[in-house]
Amino acid sequence: MTSKSPKALYIFSFFLSLSLLLSPSNVEAQRKRKDKKKDDVEAKTPAPKKDKSIADLTKSSKKMDGLFTIYQDTITGSLKMVISKDQLDKEYIYFSQIADGVMDAGRIIRGSYRGSKVFKVQKYFNKIEFITQNTSFYFDPENPLSKSKDANMSEGNMASIKIEAFDEDKGLYLIEADDLFLAETLSQIKSPSRPGSSPMSFKLGSLSKSKSKILAIKNYPENTNMEVEYVYSSPSILNGGSNAVADGRNVSIKVFHSLMEMPDNDYEVRFDDQRVGFFTEQIDDQTSTSSTPFRDLIHRWNLKKKDPNAEISEPVKPITWWIENTTPYEWRETIKEGVLQWNKAFEKAGFKNAMAVKVQPDDADWDAGDIRYNVLRWVSSPDPAYGGYGPSFVNPKTGEILGADIMLEFVHFTNRVLYDKLYNNVGMEADEEPIMNDMKFCSLGSEIHQELMFADAVVSATGADDFEMEKIRKQSMLALIMHEVGHTLGLYHNMKASQLFSPEQLEDPEFIKGKCLTASVMDYAALNITRDRSKQGQYDDVSVGPYDIWAIRCGYTPFKTEAERQALLSESTKPEHIFGNDADDMRSPGKAIDPRVNTGDQSNDQITWSVDRIGLANDLMKTAKENFSKEGEFYEELRRVFYILNAQKAGAANTISRFIGGVYVNRDLVGQENATQPYTPVSLEDQKRAMKALSDHIFAPDAFDAPNDLYNYLAQERRGFNFFRGPEDPKIHSMALGYQTRVLDHLLHPNTLQRITDSELYGNAYSLSSFMTDLNDAIFKKDIYGNVNDFRQNLQLAYTNMLVDMLTGKDAEKYTYNAKSMALYNLKTIRNMAGSTGNIASKAHKQHLRTLIDNAIKEVK
Ligand SMILES: [Zn+2]
Repeated sequence: MTSKSPKALYIFSFFLSLSLLLSPSNVEAQRKRKDKKKDDVEAKTPAPKKDKSIADLTKSSKKMDGLFTIYQDTITGSLKMVISKDQLDKEYIYFSQIADGVMDAGRIIRGSYRGSKVFKVQKYFNKIEFITQNTSFYFDPENPLSKSKDANMSEGNMASIKIEAFDEDKGLYLIEADDLFLAETLSQIKSPSRPGSSPMSFKLGSLSKSKSKILAIKNYPENTNMEVEYVYSSPSILNGGSNAVADGRNVSIKVFHSLMEMPDNDYEVRFDDQRVGFFTEQIDDQTSTSSTPFRDLIHRWNLKKKDPNAEISEPVKPITWWIENTTPYEWRETIKEGVLQWNKAFEKAGFKNAMAVKVQPDDADWDAGDIRYNVLRWVSSPDPAYGGYGPSFVNPKTGEILGADIMLEFVHFTNRVLYDKLYNNVGMEADEEPIMNDMKFCSLGSEIHQELMFADAVVSATGADDFEMEKIRKQSMLALIMHEVGHTLGLYHNMKASQLFSPEQLEDPEFIKGKCLTASVMDYAALNITRDRSKQGQYDDVSVGPYDIWAIRCGYTPFKTEAERQALLSESTKPEHIFGNDADDMRSPGKAIDPRVNTGDQSNDQITWSVDRIGLANDLMKTAKENFSKEGEFYEELRRVFYILNAQKAGAANTISRFIGGVYVNRDLVGQENATQPYTPVSLEDQKRAMKALSDHIFAPDAFDAPNDLYNYLAQERRGFNFFRGPEDPKIHSMALGYQTRVLDHLLHPNTLQRITDSELYGNAYSLSSFMTDLNDAIFKKDIYGNVNDFRQNLQLAYTNMLVDMLTGKDAEKYTYNAKSMALYNLKTIRNMAGSTGNIASKAHKQHLRTLIDNAIKEVK
């Protein structure tokens, strides 16, 4: 169309006049007029239909008073909302959580918190706007720069909704609210499909406005709450999702929305310090010249002493927990005990009875999604996403915790093996990303689950009674509850805490009695299961640890001066206050640098402890067939134990491997008492010890040996046609190789090799050439001149391929020159060792190695 249609012309002239109206001088003039006769002007600007008042438009509606008055039409169910004049330009908090969802939709599951944000309600001509505020920056109000505090940062206009009617006398604006709540206006719910995701993967359809509906409205003076069911529809689908989805074309996700008044209280913000682990709101001070202009605010509850002068006082308002009425009866007492354990820590911070526990009555008129209640919740999900989950939501401007829940998965206290988790947990990579998105997702429950199954195997193999297993489960539940409650108090993980005791102390039942097994319940430490059964004491934490008490003191003590707080923080160098968080932990290959910061480990001598664990798993393997096949049952139990024992060995191997190229990290202040230098490489002795342990217990030709006749019984139970997915026979060699290559993934990771070389400059005595020679020897020396069994053939070939990849693979450029040179050197050494010796299979294997190396070397530039 070349000529302008009359309609287009009309629109054009409309914009012209609008832009004239909005020219700076006009806006200024308008503002002045507005100031003079404010009420008069505002009555005119909305231009509502004069004949329709709020009363007219809400005639057929039910009125619900609260923070924002809501009207719901009794015929159509549609919503209207009233904004009063004194609510304009004020800040509110928005928070949402999933009431119910499905894992298929990408971890959209019951109880997951979606974060909180600050928004303002503004009026623009005849519209009401909902604007997300940027809370990430601070400007000193005294600094002239604060006048430009909105420069180059964006607020977010979530909605701009037409005013339907205006009540001049009361100063009320009526807007339609369906678009606010029945669309993804306040928060994004459906995750976008990832680039490159398979077209065969499950996908939510489009949001259906006609099928989506309001499920409940709960309006209170301080908050307006809405439960909404969003329906995502698609006429046809490739993948119908799991059994959790009844109809893949129509998937419901239920969401709780809460609009809250900005707290106006005497809450005091508290700044973060890297020596202790609190969740934070990260805020940059834009007017500071510091190299670390951080004003990060820790998450904490607004605990105030009833009697401010008393050394120990009850709080004005305790942190009250409700045990959801879905909770199995047999666990209620233990759960209560777990919550109340934290009172020990609060007492040291000056508070008596800071934590309180109640049970939700079966006929309660509130449900666990109600933000006014902190609830310990139970679910038994089709596809459990977490071990436990202890989310809290905060005022983004202050870090004040406003509410919290704890989600617990029943499955972790059963004997159901989650095979995929068994493999993932050894590395965690597959699960890493969603966890990183929400640091409050916690996999402790699934770690405990595996440990419990291992404990079960140990206990039943050694003929202990059911009472012993009962005791272990109770201790684990207590530990899990203390851990998840710790999250809701603002604490994040402390993966270094397991350094507190020696293996000997853990094997001393009298010494360990009544204690936390580590410095903190916030670790993912292994259960204390002794190989020598006569030395078995307590299995898990039965108390909060010394770090936990200190951290609560740092976060909650009502300090009179900053010096008092600093004095307490300076106790970080005490061994029992040792701390390292998830970002510092070494659970994934190549990640982080301090081997003390790890999951699934135990004691201040993890190498000795891990070798012991491998020994215990090997002991059990020898008699597994006799101990775990029960008359009258199928062989699923035996199969389960076989995989559990191997996973234990693999986990221990990973822990050991982290010492090679490891660097201990300390985060002390300059001049702090007992401060140590930040970086200290692991001693040569310990690195060599780790290398030897891997060589003997993980890479050795007999490392994954089991009695041959065991394999005949590793039968999976048939259910319908479940073997369509793949043949059912146990994949013994690929399991062993998978575990071995996980260790090699770390040892030959570009980060590890680079660090070995760099740290030679500051104290590392295990040179890259010595390490790589030792590794080559560990994988070849024992059998390369004779017969090589299938386990070792697999390992040798996989390792050789990794060396080749260091030179010519897609990640080759990530390796340093000296690492590549050592890879080439090792390949040539292997080439020389791999002669035509041994039986036919061994000869074939060695010929394969030679061919591989010859071809690879030609590619090396
Ligand atoms: Zn956790």
